[in-house]
Amino acid sequence: MHVLLVFIDGVGLGADDAAVNPLIAAHVPTLESLSAGQRWTAAAVRSDNGRAAFIPTDATLGVAGRPQSGSNQAAILTGINVPQRLGYHYGPKPDAPTRHLLEETNLFKTVLEAGRTADLINAYPPRLHHDINRGKTLRSSIQHAAWAAGLAMHTADDLLNGDALSEDWTARAWREYLGFPNAPTYAPEDAGRRMVEVSRRYDFAFFSHWFTDVIGHRGPFEDGVKLIETIDRVLAGALDAWDDDEGLLIVTSDHGNFEALDHGKHTENPVPTVVIGAARHIFADGYSNLTQVTPRILEALGIG
Ligand SMILES: [Zn+2]
Repeated sequence: MHVLLVFIDGVGLGADDAAVNPLIAAHVPTLESLSAGQRWTAAAVRSDNGRAAFIPTDATLGVAGRPQSGSNQAAILTGINVPQRLGYHYGPKPDAPTRHLLEETNLFKTVLEAGRTADLINAYPPRLHHDINRGKTLRSSIQHAAWAAGLAMHTADDLLNGDALSEDWTARAWREYLGFPNAPTYAPEDAGRRMVEVSRRYDFAFFSHWFTDVIGHRGPFEDGVKLIETIDRVLAGALDAWDDDEGLLIVTSDHGNFEALDHGKHTENPVPTVVIGAARHIFADGYSNLTQVTPRILEALGIG
């Protein structure tokens, strides 16, 4: 039994309006199959299509204001209601109290301390390694959790060797923007299959995509439509490769943003959680908010 968590930053369940919500304007047959034929909107309800559970998930965690990545990624990876503990939502990077919580306990750390294997399977470009090492930029809460667990962030070499994946799955960004003309690029479906294959090396693998949140802040809408159609195809490939008896494939987000491109701010909408696998009830039954991710993954892995 292993778990692959596919984290997609800043995607909520919003209006059924093709003028503002790329999830409605786009052709996303895989996403809609995962929610038993429902469009991904605020009106969608918990469902099960026989292979996947779809669960609208609270991301506000009982704290006023717009949820942020720093505190909500930390809630996902600690099981602690971090915004409530802080008294506020905070982001995009974690503040000092949030970093402290992540250093005390997080999902990567707990899995490793149980003698199992865990990894953040993203490759990061040299510039980010440089900036983090020089203290020019903070790690995200996800990166901070992995770091606190003693995991090294994967490099360009790991990408080229096939040991880690590009944030955009296809690795086009490495060729076009990051100065790696020889980076292998993959069709979205193949990238989804590769993500599953890499995840099989670990009891717990975390893949992080963040460009959805960037589009949520700045658009443009057309790019949002293209991006979610790419993600739909990545997930089609992942579902093709995934054996329902091998464990749990989970897709979730930290807060809404991308689904409301009539403005550039986060939303208080619920986020989608999808759980795929024969044992999905272990995670899905009674699941309703982001603080439940960590304890349920640990339960699925038989740790705790
Ligand atoms: Zn954001």
